[in-house]
Amino acid sequence: MLSAWFHAPTIFPLFSYCLNPKRNLSCPSMAASSIRIAVVGDVHDCWNFEQDSKALEFLKPDLVLFTGDFGDENVEVVQSVANLEFAKAVILGNHDSWFTRQFSGREKDKVQLQLECLGKEHVAYQRLDFPLIKVSVVGGRPFSHGGKPLFRKKLLSARYGVKDMDESAKRIQKAALGTPEDHFLVILAHNGPTGLGSALNDICGKDWEFGSDGDHGDPDLSHAISLLKENNHVSIPLVVFGHMHKELAYGNGFRKMIVVGADNTIFLNGAIVPRVKTLGDEEKRSLDDLGALSSSEAKGTTRAFTLVEISEGRVAKIAETWVSVTEDQTTLEEEKILFEAS
Ligand SMILES: [Zn+2]
Repeated sequence: MLSAWFHAPTIFPLFSYCLNPKRNLSCPSMAASSIRIAVVGDVHDCWNFEQDSKALEFLKPDLVLFTGDFGDENVEVVQSVANLEFAKAVILGNHDSWFTRQFSGREKDKVQLQLECLGKEHVAYQRLDFPLIKVSVVGGRPFSHGGKPLFRKKLLSARYGVKDMDESAKRIQKAALGTPEDHFLVILAHNGPTGLGSALNDICGKDWEFGSDGDHGDPDLSHAISLLKENNHVSIPLVVFGHMHKELAYGNGFRKMIVVGADNTIFLNGAIVPRVKTLGDEEKRSLDDLGALSSSEAKGTTRAFTLVEISEGRVAKIAETWVSVTEDQTTLEEEKILFEAS
């Protein structure tokens, strides 16, 4: 369950590393020792360029990762995300190819338009290096809807030449090879790997169907991670994904959003859905009582991010973070710590 809400009167110490308004890649000297990654989980149309930019300017990440499912082929949202002035990497999800089964030969379909918007920042089967902060992001399979079947086979075959799970695993493995040795490697996928549990509240557990194998992870991602670790001796400190929403179906509570593997790989699910809450009347009244904001100023939203703090090449802290954005104030609304290094 979420911890109690609180209102930070001033900037929380968490956000004090670098004072550049847009931290982006402009703090290389700091970045070598401390890096902040903001994960934006499945968007599902909950995106506002102005408000999310304000929230991110407040959080000052070095890198923003998007786990996909922007909407049902919502090109406008994807274009807005592409316009964001932060270093970023993106993977498209199953909802981003909701209607398009194959690429259109005549006019550009919405999957092509989304891919064009994102360019090289769409990291499917690719590696994107961020040398100033010494981070590399390797993308998994795009359009995944989880489980054993390969979703959107014709798209995968036409664009990436991938026809089955085995080829997909090898493409992910290949993308990771050559990662600079001193870089922190993050795998970014729409859905997590198999092997992390089959209970309905497990990080990739089916919460809508009971009785059968409930592990809804991606077998190719699991295979690729094994190949990289066992054959190529690649260290994978962080795997970030979404798709499996935090709130479980049928009111069954909440999902485990983090797993620390036996070899210290951290698997992080960022799919807090919906990621935006409108500031309710009750909260507005309490703010009025405190004299902090007038009711008109209090009109705003709280927006979810998962923050990953990396220190000296290791994950130091991960927190589900809600940022309140009103007309003239941006504040930390809530922080729930998911992981802290011992
Ligand atoms: Zn999805």
